Amino acid sequence: MTASQPAAATETARPKLAFRPLPVPQVDVRGFWGDRVDAVASRTAEILYERCVEARMLEQIDPDRPSPGVVIPFHSPSPDEAAHPGFTGSTVTTQMFWDSDWGKTIETAAYSLYRRRNPDLEKKIDAVIDMYGKLQQEDGYLSSWYQRIQPGLRWTNLRDCHELYCAGHLIEGAVAYFQATGKRKLLDIMSRYADHIASMFGPEPGKKKGYCGHEEIELALVKLARVTGNQKYMDLAKYFIDQRGQQPHYFDEEARARGADPKAYHFKTYEYNQSHKPVREQDKVVGHAVRAMYLYSGMADIATEYGDDSLRAALDRLWDDLTTKSLYVTGGLGPSAHNEGFTSDYDLPNETAYAETCASVGLVFWASRMLGMGPNGRYADMMERALYNGSISGLSLDGSLFFYENPLESRGGHHRWKWHRCPCCPPNIGRMVASIGSYFYGLADDALAVHLYGDSTCRFEIAGRPVSLVQTSNYPWDGAVAIEVDAETPVAFTLYLRIPAWCRNAALRVNGKMVDLDAATSDGYAAIRREWQKGDRVELDLEMSMARLFANPHVRQDIGRVALARGPLIYCVEETDNGGGLHRIALPRESRLEAHPEPNLLGGIVTLSAIGSRAETENWGSDLYRSEPPAAEETKLKAVPYFAWDNRDPGEMLVWLREG
Ligand SMILES: [Zn+2]
Repeated sequence: MTASQPAAATETARPKLAFRPLPVPQVDVRGFWGDRVDAVASRTAEILYERCVEARMLEQIDPDRPSPGVVIPFHSPSPDEAAHPGFTGSTVTTQMFWDSDWGKTIETAAYSLYRRRNPDLEKKIDAVIDMYGKLQQEDGYLSSWYQRIQPGLRWTNLRDCHELYCAGHLIEGAVAYFQATGKRKLLDIMSRYADHIASMFGPEPGKKKGYCGHEEIELALVKLARVTGNQKYMDLAKYFIDQRGQQPHYFDEEARARGADPKAYHFKTYEYNQSHKPVREQDKVVGHAVRAMYLYSGMADIATEYGDDSLRAALDRLWDDLTTKSLYVTGGLGPSAHNEGFTSDYDLPNETAYAETCASVGLVFWASRMLGMGPNGRYADMMERALYNGSISGLSLDGSLFFYENPLESRGGHHRWKWHRCPCCPPNIGRMVASIGSYFYGLADDALAVHLYGDSTCRFEIAGRPVSLVQTSNYPWDGAVAIEVDAETPVAFTLYLRIPAWCRNAALRVNGKMVDLDAATSDGYAAIRREWQKGDRVELDLEMSMARLFANPHVRQDIGRVALARGPLIYCVEETDNGGGLHRIALPRESRLEAHPEPNLLGGIVTLSAIGSRAETENWGSDLYRSEPPAAEETKLKAVPYFAWDNRDPGEMLVWLREG
């Protein structure tokens, strides 16, 4: 597979021949994703609201109540930070980004309302929006933290304090809520705030030359521009991208302006927030993983909207770097808790993997936006990997509990949280799952790309004609996909179908006639151009190949180990199926893997089994060391999809099995 420009993008001089996701209400999902969306719509969305209230977030945004003050203490400085002569006191608490938690909670609720009417939840969200309406200042400014807790300090610390990040999440919530309910109030509030931001930041003389330490505003402004048609928001998003990392460095100047020494920065390097150099010069994924994913998502949007090849080239370099050196096999990323991010190449520890749920969700965002530039399996396969594994592992099957970290190995002590002191992940996985339909398809002027398979119906207009596609499939458990076309009048367009790289055998028929896949496929997608009409039927058979996966030998933690996969799913073994001491299990290379549909297990899954061996402890005695290896007994091991772990009895878990 190459990173070359896909055909669809070179056939036209118009850079805006972009593939846009279908809006959430245009795709009804059933089957695997239908169950997940139902869990979010029926439980998660309300849980998010309730836990925000419990955390006292309503008090902060409601101007009619007394301010709650600082509920979550400021982070304590590290000793060397505190000892630095330029240290001017801790500046950050996670309470600063409560507006972002509201934004994502509103967004999750909005997408959930498509799925399931919920007048009670809608009323609660309307009330939150009313509070923001009251809170907004005359000039459009809106930040519950800087208005209610630290007045007078707005725009003084973009580096640390998430001010524009919060605006971005409220904008995303506003766009989703408008699309879901038709109610404009929050959209109007956030447009006024975006107007204010545009009056404060930009290349014009007198404006601030800054950008946010935590990227997010960029991709949010793109959404706002698309829904309002206001190019000013798009240009502002592009400005924030273009300005990042330019000299003189904004965060240096900003620190000096508030009397701080820029060198007293907690994270020491601007790699932490990807502002160490201009984005077009970047070629390594560095720093905080979620920030990186959000930045690259915004860059991909701008590359698509402006046909900007220089951004695209940087994105391809960054994609290469991430996917060949710093990505867990689950689609998790960011191994270190210290910077919540990247460390060095091939450093992928399993038990201590940070792999924040938000980072994997962010990878889904980035990959999906790379598909805006044309169908390409390089991105879509990875989007699928992160979707089915490292992201949805963050949500319990019933939609009520959340992982922040997603390790690939546990001694039994790692479990989902009810909430988190930094509750960024719960609403992030909630909004991603609830909007999953929009990741299935990409629509261009005369093409539709099918990125994801699964039981679903989509409706769209192409060349001015309404078309619907009904996918019938038990994906990801079974790779047979039938797509039925319904068009009132015949309409010509290209249908792109992803042929996943993990699939060893695929067959494609259109109206019963076999298609030569080799000839039809480039960049991981088969392209069928024809005049489609009602009753046309596409049948795609993807072999759900089982695979043993091995890591690059540079990954010290995985050498001599093997991970199991079937189709897009990565598997793990759990204590509840295999007994304790999972590290003592070994899987011989020649052992046959078998797949078993288990409709009554974990909501209906396919398990994998194989004959392995287990090092015995019984006859070892009390010695710590001996000159003879332990005896081994045969054992049948059973593996379940990684996303479903920790939904039964608590216990050990392991992805990378010892081989031998
Ligand atoms: Zn998070």
